[in-house]
Amino acid sequence: MEAVTDAPALLQIDDLVVAADGNPILNGLSLSARAGEVHALMGPNGSGKSTLANTLLANPAYKVTRGRILFKGEDVTALPTEDRAARGLFLGFQHPEEIPGVSVFNFLRQAMSIRKGIPDLSVLEVRLALIDWMKRLGMDERFTERYLNEGFSGGEKKRNEILQMALMEPDFAVLDETDSGLDIDALRVVAHGIHEVRKDRPELGILLITHYQRILEHLTPDFVHILLDGKIVESGGPELARRVETEGFDAFRKAA
Ligand code: ADP
Ligand code: MG
Repeated sequence: MEAVTDAPALLQIDDLVVAADGNPILNGLSLSARAGEVHALMGPNGSGKSTLANTLLANPAYKVTRGRILFKGEDVTALPTEDRAARGLFLGFQHPEEIPGVSVFNFLRQAMSIRKGIPDLSVLEVRLALIDWMKRLGMDERFTERYLNEGFSGGEKKRNEILQMALMEPDFAVLDETDSGLDIDALRVVAHGIHEVRKDRPELGILLITHYQRILEHLTPDFVHILLDGKIVESGGPELARRVETEGFDAFRKAA
């Protein structure tokens, strides 16, 4: 997709310094993305990718000590997760099934209610939207029953995340690929899901956080950023992802 060059930033991260447990992890990270753009953030293990995802999610374990996050021009740095979600920022949910006493379905219903600004979306409405998107994403009916009754586990979490992204109708989505070794089929599902959601929402901006360039074979980013030691050391087009594959992250380390 062609990048729009004169549009204002949808998500703008300025000079972000973030610490966890008293240790600085992000070290002056800046990144700006406009509507409709796909940005890939690549970096080796431990470079701070998930820290950025957690910071964007407003995980309280991650303290912003400098810099700011602007979403649609508004400073959201101090806003909690649900206020960011209500404004259309989607961050893959962190294992909602692990929240005691809250079923995955109810978690989703709550999240959708917040996003739509409707206090109590009906169970039926949520259920119909869920079934509709499961079909579009190629998930079978048994998945629906499992979703309603038990939730997902293991490798299904990624499909689940894409499904949640579709249902939340975000303006910007942050997807942390995690390093848990997604197999090729799961990668294809994620890439297909993103394409499917973008059909409905061509203005959706995406930050895809990844350790591997494999998913980028299925989804061409407009921009690629290389993260090393908590700082973006180089930004460019998809050719950067190819360079990671041939030369590894060390090539960027030497240059930086
Ligand atoms: P990546 O996702 O790129 O592999 P992370 O953001 O998970 O990297 O971690 C970057 C560094 O920050 C690592 O050294 C990690 O140990 C540290 N770190 C991440 N989260 C925490 C935390 N909650 N408390 C303390 N240190 C953390
Ligand atoms: Mg990570």
